[in-house]
Amino acid sequence: MTSQRTRNRLVQRLREAGIKNDEVLEVIAQTPRHLFVDEALAHRAYEDTALPIGNGQTISQPYTVARMTEILLAAGPLNRVLEIGTGSGYQTAILSPLVGKLFSVERIEPLHEKARLRLQKLNYRNVHLKLSDGTWGWPEHGLYDGILAAAAPEDVPDSLLQQLADGGRLIMPVGTHEQKLVLITRHGEHFSRKTLESVRFVPFLPGVQR
Ligand code: SAH
Repeated sequence: MTSQRTRNRLVQRLREAGIKNDEVLEVIAQTPRHLFVDEALAHRAYEDTALPIGNGQTISQPYTVARMTEILLAAGPLNRVLEIGTGSGYQTAILSPLVGKLFSVERIEPLHEKARLRLQKLNYRNVHLKLSDGTWGWPEHGLYDGILAAAAPEDVPDSLLQQLADGGRLIMPVGTHEQKLVLITRHGEHFSRKTLESVRFVPFLPGVQR
């Protein structure tokens, strides 16, 4: 149930759903998603669905992970990337081999701790994690060529825009009742904004929860 064949079936499904970036699909084929959920759910890890990870949060749906990664990478290689909402660390694991350095913040301590141990054990060396409210980004390591968030605020926090490098891209869900993926590209002091497909994410919440 966690075999290479099962993973390849997921990749085939993602291809049929419209994911085109072969590098992204290859990383998904190589990544053991069953190690990012509780053992009791491992048999469902290669279904294309979100699954509970505790603390009221979910591991993102593989399609959404693939889609956001593909959009983030579409303009060329990314040297420094910031992720908001580490959660299980699955999206982190998908981004890690595709970018230079990856910085990821999570506001819920038990999830942050679990993801830290898991990513360490699996040897993701270019990943840096922090327990923190992602509203403030992670200014010490910016500016970032790419920013990706896996939780939906009412609108994109201004501090994240400020941590985007010139030419950098930000992708995140935005909205409360209805959420859409929003892609923002920075051109100097101008930010161009594109609204893409509808999505469903957990809410972007303030503060740290211990
Ligand atoms: N990509 C992750 C998604 C986890 S769900 C995965 O596949 O596992 C989104 C995560 O965002 C949750 O863990 C939630 O706690 C976190 N989150 C929500 N608001 C946040 C904020 N302001 N700062 C940091 N993390 C936040």
